[in-house]
Amino acid sequence: MSIETTTKSAANGSSSASPRQAAISAAVGYSASSPPIEFLEKTSESVFGENVFSKSVMKKRLPKGIYKSLMQTIDAGEKLDSTVADVVASAMKDWAVEKGATHYTHVFYPLTGGTAEKHDSFMSPTGDGGTLAEFSGKELCQGEPDGSSFPTGGIRQTHEARGYTIWDVTSPAYILENANGTTLCIPTAFVSWTGEALDKKTPVLRSMKALDAQAHRITKLFAIPKGGAGDSKAFVASTAGPEQEYFLVDENFYYARPDLLTAGRTLFGAAAPKGQEFDDHYFGAIPDRVLSFMFDVERELCRLGVPIKTRHNEVAPGQYELAPMFETANVATDHQQLVMLVLKKVAKKYGMECLTHEKPFAGLNGSGKHVNWSLGSSAHGNLLDPGDTPHENAQFLVFCAAVIRAVYKHQGLLRAVVASAGNDHRLGANEAPPAIISIFLGDQLADVFDQIKGGGANSSIPKGELTVGVDTLPPLAKDAGDRNRTSPFAFTGNRFEFRAVGSNFSIAGPLVAMNTIVAESLDYCATKLEDATGGDDSKLHGAVQGLLTEIINECGTIIFNGDGYSDEWHVEAEKRGLLNNKTTADALPALQAAPVKEMFSKYNVLSERELESRFETYVEQYCMTVRVEANLTKKMARTMIFPAAIRYQRELAATCTDLKALGYDFDTNTLDKVTGLVKDLQDSTAALAEASADGCEDIRKCCDVVLPAMLKVREAADALEAIVADDIWPLPTYQEMLFIK
Ligand code: ADP
Ligand code: MG
Repeated sequence: MSIETTTKSAANGSSSASPRQAAISAAVGYSASSPPIEFLEKTSESVFGENVFSKSVMKKRLPKGIYKSLMQTIDAGEKLDSTVADVVASAMKDWAVEKGATHYTHVFYPLTGGTAEKHDSFMSPTGDGGTLAEFSGKELCQGEPDGSSFPTGGIRQTHEARGYTIWDVTSPAYILENANGTTLCIPTAFVSWTGEALDKKTPVLRSMKALDAQAHRITKLFAIPKGGAGDSKAFVASTAGPEQEYFLVDENFYYARPDLLTAGRTLFGAAAPKGQEFDDHYFGAIPDRVLSFMFDVERELCRLGVPIKTRHNEVAPGQYELAPMFETANVATDHQQLVMLVLKKVAKKYGMECLTHEKPFAGLNGSGKHVNWSLGSSAHGNLLDPGDTPHENAQFLVFCAAVIRAVYKHQGLLRAVVASAGNDHRLGANEAPPAIISIFLGDQLADVFDQIKGGGANSSIPKGELTVGVDTLPPLAKDAGDRNRTSPFAFTGNRFEFRAVGSNFSIAGPLVAMNTIVAESLDYCATKLEDATGGDDSKLHGAVQGLLTEIINECGTIIFNGDGYSDEWHVEAEKRGLLNNKTTADALPALQAAPVKEMFSKYNVLSERELESRFETYVEQYCMTVRVEANLTKKMARTMIFPAAIRYQRELAATCTDLKALGYDFDTNTLDKVTGLVKDLQDSTAALAEASADGCEDIRKCCDVVLPAMLKVREAADALEAIVADDIWPLPTYQEMLFIK
């Protein structure tokens, strides 16, 4: 399909205008020509979760015994009693059919990072010409989508091509609505015929189990009295609150930009005269159309039981953020996928496209997903809550030290799980955490660990009050530590915030890594403490002191409270011996390191083969992304930018000839420049064609040769954009895409 026909307004018949001009008119005319934005009732408690087969729905609709048994599995992580499935299936179907559902789908999460579904109808023929809605326990528990085209990194050969979806009872089923019908969606794990994980959910569940087991060994040591709340067997779950950054652009621009449409980011585009330097977008008044969109998104998510708490403009023009309340890691992961889906779906309703790419626009901030992470249970509370006097909170210090040790030991893995072609454009740029993994602890905790290093902690910097010097402002309780927005892994009061995750990622990978590395460190700590005390509680204090000192001495170099964006930090980090894997090609091999393989196997999170399959899949995805972008770059350079440039060149040349014929002088400076840049464009496009001629299969080559070759084409094109006559330029500009709202 040509660009002309994908431009909606052009297709609608605005005759002679160029696709770009048509896109501008349509975008500017949005509010005038579109129907008024539908007024939405305020989100309220009554709609929260109305499309979710939630615990309260189950409580109402299931026999008591069945409900109790299910809750044991959901809340306490106990084995699912398979006899409950038929009853649950029937209740679930009745509930869904009452809500208008005609179909059900097992939703699963393949290694692409996306969400996959295959729909089946509830209806079965009755034999007398009628139909009956049916849904058995077996259909609830297990499905067999083909799904053989999803990447498996070699796990699933054609001779063992079966793949099963298995009901995940811990993540609630829900209804997705469409104008023409509704579908019951059942979150599932996706495994091969051999039981190996083909998806992102299975390892999340396994890693949560590993974390729970090790966390209990620590809480048991500190439980006073034995048998009290601290000694509870309640499932210690990891919790996650992922903040999502995204861009919105008018759909007319999106359709007029083949790069946005296909690659999710602009491969060309000169900087707008004004970018984000005034910071006037950040936290600014939200434009009306965007606010309508946000209300709609939040209402939809609210009905799906996804609790959205925060919304605001982000730093770059056209960039926004949304943050949910935290939930258990598994549910948060599924809900995060729904968030991305709903953002994209609702944006279309308002004539916009939601971009979740990490770097849609060069020179402007990219988008991340800050994954807030902690662990705890209803009985133990949040195990990363330091209280007011962390130096006295030995259990907290052990958990915190375990995280420090885990991040230090597995910097490479943490970098690898946030590696992608998209995120490479963001990490290390001057707006996102660097590719160096370090931990920010904040003043109070950094001070406590300094004291531990020096022999023992005796005090905590108090929180104090914030005085502003204006009597009419209420006094504020000051946080014990400041924030650090430049750290990839920051302690933020009662949780860690992993800020290096890309905006287009599933949060599953980062959570699996965090859960598992912390489980391993908790195992290490528990073993040390158990050995040192030999069951004698009076020895615990000394043992903890010894353990903390040892960890901080061995792993303390990972702590960095300064400016992660600065050049000095790069120098300093190198001195400290910290890893700095700048690109995905550098980062992914960490997945093959022996300690990583052993760890994932030991805690039954990923077998060697499962881990290897992930490595291969991510390498392949990186290469495919670069290949598509290289193809697009060539195509756009040849069929859009080059033609525009030579049209302008001819216009200049004709003017020159005409003027000279009339006896005037003509300064050929601009013509010379255009001619030079046209040559650069041709040469660099030819060089890119050569660099990518073998199909981009080697990750190192993609990274070291193809991407730089693409950048050369972009340089020539962007320089042309700055001089070619504006009415000839074929692509919507940064200024138009970012500022016409
Ligand atoms: P900030 O701008 O300070 O980062 P936000 O309100 O944007 O704060 O986001 C904070 C995020 O941290 C929310 O998603 C919140 O649910 C999450 N969060 C809070 N406590 C926890 C916790 N114990 N475990 C995981 N996430 C948490
Ligand atoms: Mg935030």
